Amino acid sequence: MAPEECISDLRGREGYELCGWRQERRGESSWCVLRLRRDRNRPAYCSGCWREAPALHDSEWLTVRDLPMFEHAVDLKIPRVRVACPHCGPKLELLGWLDPYARVTRRLAESVSRLCAVMSIRHVAGGALARHEIRSHEDGLRPLIRSSMNAAAGVP
Ligand SMILES: [Zn+2]
Repeated sequence: MAPEECISDLRGREGYELCGWRQERRGESSWCVLRLRRDRNRPAYCSGCWREAPALHDSEWLTVRDLPMFEHAVDLKIPRVRVACPHCGPKLELLGWLDPYARVTRRLAESVSRLCAVMSIRHVAGGALARHEIRSHEDGLRPLIRSSMNAAAGVP
């Protein structure tokens, strides 16, 4: 299936809408890079206190990894907003699908976590997720894999 047939499905990225996309090759892999913009009418909430913020402070472009679409790996380019919270100062906007400072979406993190619970890390890295996918986001996935291993071993 071609990427254009499924990129319109942006469920799981509430508050953001697609404003462009491109397909590119990275070595042996096909990547789909989706550029999203924030819905200006969406109220912004502070990730520190979860209260609605009266204004935005600033934003910068961030690349985060999402679940693959069929054989295409997916990168999202999003404006990551900091709100001007009167209680906490400048703080990242609270998003239901992306944790503060995360480089992978919550649903990708949950998918890796579920796979690590039933498969060896070698199989997750070599099968369910391609090795380059693990390597390209190693920093973001390492704590996730560690916490999955700890949970499986009963370590708090
Ligand atoms: Zn706050």
